[in-house]
Amino acid sequence: MTTLEKTHALSIQNREEFWGQQAHRIHWESPHDKVLEFDHPPFAKWFVGGRTNLCYNAVDRWLKTQADQAALIWVSTEVNKEIVFTRSDLFREVNAFAAMLKAQGVSEGDRVLIYMPMIPSAVFAMLACARIGAIHSVVFGGFASVNLAQRIDDAQPTVIVSADAGSRAGKVTPYKPLLDKAISLCNSPPKAVIIEDRGLHEMNWVDGRDQDYASLREQYLGQTVDVTWLESSQPSYILYTSGTTGRPKGVQRDTGGYAVALATSMEYIYDGHPGETFLCTSDIGWVVGHSYIVYGPLIAGMATILYEGTPVRPDGGILWRLVQDYKVSVMFSAPTAIRVLKKQDPELLGKYDLSSLRALYMAGEPLDEPTATWISQGLGKPVIDNYWQTETGWPILAAQPGIEKRPTRFGSPSFPVYGYDVKILDEQTGQELGAGQKGVVAIFPPLPPGAMSTVWGDDERFVQTYFTSIPGRQVYSTFDWGLVDQDGYWFILGRTDDVINVAGHRLGTREIEESVNSHPAIAESAVVGVSDALKGQVAVAFVVLKQPERFDVVTGQPALAKEIMRVVDDQLGAVARPAAIQFVTALPKTRSGKVLRRAIVAVCEGRDPGDLTTIEDPATLEQIQKHT
Ligand code: AMP
Repeated sequence: MTTLEKTHALSIQNREEFWGQQAHRIHWESPHDKVLEFDHPPFAKWFVGGRTNLCYNAVDRWLKTQADQAALIWVSTEVNKEIVFTRSDLFREVNAFAAMLKAQGVSEGDRVLIYMPMIPSAVFAMLACARIGAIHSVVFGGFASVNLAQRIDDAQPTVIVSADAGSRAGKVTPYKPLLDKAISLCNSPPKAVIIEDRGLHEMNWVDGRDQDYASLREQYLGQTVDVTWLESSQPSYILYTSGTTGRPKGVQRDTGGYAVALATSMEYIYDGHPGETFLCTSDIGWVVGHSYIVYGPLIAGMATILYEGTPVRPDGGILWRLVQDYKVSVMFSAPTAIRVLKKQDPELLGKYDLSSLRALYMAGEPLDEPTATWISQGLGKPVIDNYWQTETGWPILAAQPGIEKRPTRFGSPSFPVYGYDVKILDEQTGQELGAGQKGVVAIFPPLPPGAMSTVWGDDERFVQTYFTSIPGRQVYSTFDWGLVDQDGYWFILGRTDDVINVAGHRLGTREIEESVNSHPAIAESAVVGVSDALKGQVAVAFVVLKQPERFDVVTGQPALAKEIMRVVDDQLGAVARPAAIQFVTALPKTRSGKVLRRAIVAVCEGRDPGDLTTIEDPATLEQIQKHT
């Protein structure tokens, strides 16, 4: 057995010993009585009886050794500002924010909804909630009123924290009118709204409800607020994620388990160390932002970069400039961001000193081999794919260089992470499958520390949604397909809910996409299953070209379409060949970069595309419509 396998085996066979050792990585005000309580499966409680606090671990704990070192580095290419907050600056700002929340009547267990762009006060607000034991719920700034109203009604926050506006690629998006509309739509309006006025957009203030952040800050700066010690299982936050029903699920996270899980991952997976800098290009509205912009790096004594901007402004070298200027040692991004960079001048990769960078981690969607190869060769650094979900809060599958360095394989997020008893199961029989067999990626409970503890306010929904889809056994379904190869490398093959069935053959759209993308003319593609009277479904590929000017519509595109089909024929077999290749200039995506497959399918099938509040550019869907 390799060291990695031994560590994994210990973490499953002797959970209490493994996690009992990891618990020492964080500060506990009082120790736990029991590492794990699993009397009511699938509900698990970790470090029962222990009392701790996320804010204390992220901020106060590092004051002795790192008071004057950078903790939060804010870079905005939208408003052209860079501010470095030391750990003591962070302490001061978070305490001021905590004092203002308390003054608004927020106390332990109350919810605070944070609807903010990527600005420092958003992070102060999150940490301030953690400090006083309030439960934050960050809602992605790209969501609009109806989504926001649903979340307000579900979380019932005492206070909402927001700003006048966000900015993306130089375009200002006003937040306040969306928030006002959401509050008018919901049944549980907050008592108070704290607004940061960035001077980006005019606002209508609601008397008696809206409070100006700058004035409150002035009033409370210098106050210190005592840490509220929480029992380990008390909730730290709620993060809404979409499911199949359209009603968002509030993923509820614990406190002690999460802190331990993040601290452990920072060493074992991300190989990050105190005093170093972490750059994660996600958004605080997503789970990656919670875990690896805010809590993970700060708990581990690292500085973290909060970046407001796109990867291509002022040019495609901006992320590498940040790596150079702030000596970033660990970087975390998403394949989409790298695919965007692929279309930029490749010279930009060589322009900056990237010697501080040890590795680039990628997650959130499948990392296709051409993108992985391109970036890994361009950077000359390891590219590490890691696979997880909002629900788990930290990786399920990943290379774990902090335990043992093993070769990675492009297209594979490597191996199961300690703590996850993850298996590939047959979706019909629930039986475990062998090497090379495709099945559902499932986790045998208990879920490890830091993973979702329940659906906010709805234990039944937690059990029903996640633990009942595999026949005969109560296991957690990730709703992803996967397989393990002969050498133990894992592969994720797309969502079980995006599976397509062509003439009785099950196909993963992801496999077809990889094949299409391997054609050198293709920048990216989305393959969807569209209903077909004869075959049940057929695959249709929407492709974005690297150099569209090279392929005219009359001769160039039809010839290229044939070539792409031939590539798929050759690589996967004719059964997987898309019935049509449609050329578009961009794919419909959410602002977090996920392709809106369901909307594409709906449009292709002449149906209503449904909720489009998260779409980055509605014109992309109109292009799809033209092809149907
Ligand atoms: P989210 O909860 O939005 O982070 O989405 C989680 C889903 O994204 C997973 O269930 C997967 O379908 C997909 N995903 C996340 N990371 C990866 C990865 N490294 N490779 C393939 N798919 C991934």
